[in-house]
Amino acid sequence: MHIKELVLDNFKSFGRKTRIPFYEDFTTVSGPNGSGKSNIIDSILFALGLARTSGIRAEKLTDLIYNPGHQDGEREGDEEREASVEVILDNADGTLERGTVVNAAGTEDVGDCSEISIKRRVKETEDNYYSYYYINGRSVNLSDIQDLLAQAGVTPEGYNVVMQGDVTEIINMTPHARREIIDEIAGVAQFDAKKEDAFEE
Ligand code: ATP
Ligand code: MG
Repeated sequence: MHIKELVLDNFKSFGRKTRIPFYEDFTTVSGPNGSGKSNIIDSILFALGLARTSGIRAEKLTDLIYNPGHQDGEREGDEEREASVEVILDNADGTLERGTVVNAAGTEDVGDCSEISIKRRVKETEDNYYSYYYINGRSVNLSDIQDLLAQAGVTPEGYNVVMQGDVTEIINMTPHARREIIDEIAGVAQFDAKKEDAFEE
């Protein structure tokens, strides 16, 4: 499984609908400082529900909505504002196999979907804000997305994304803390937690 395409609409510095293709092996994004490279990573974490707002460099969710006055610290326009990010996953290898999704043809087993779309929207009204998640266009809860992605080992605790600064942090860790990260990636950390729980009981 891999990300095939990202569709950013009004997200952070992307004031226009922007499609970003991803390749199967690796994709690099280059550009000058402040051009929005990290915002692309933030958009993936946002859409897949993998990080808190602080992890995507925002104080609140509505800071993720494109704001032409962002650099001057101004909030421009007072009409309803909204941002969305869609992550299109290539599931041709059937990595995601458990669960059902709904598409034009009706309900379908996730395992039969060669392409799965995960989307999140954040909408700001005059006095409130809303966040919605979708799988293949159908409104779902965050837990549905988490259950789906866990099949590919993609979890909020899993080191699927190495952020700017993480490498230095990992180098400066104690060997024990570094080992914990390896356990987490290898998927054995969950068994340690279960073992501890069992001892406590
Ligand atoms: P670097 O090479 O320094 O890491 P980068 O390419 O990763 O840079 P980003 O951090 O992705 O750059 O982008 C920062 C830019 O995004 C800033 O110019 C900031 O003003 C802009 N930005 C962030 N949030 C918003 C928003 N809500 N509306 C408009 N622009 C925004
Ligand atoms: Mg950056």
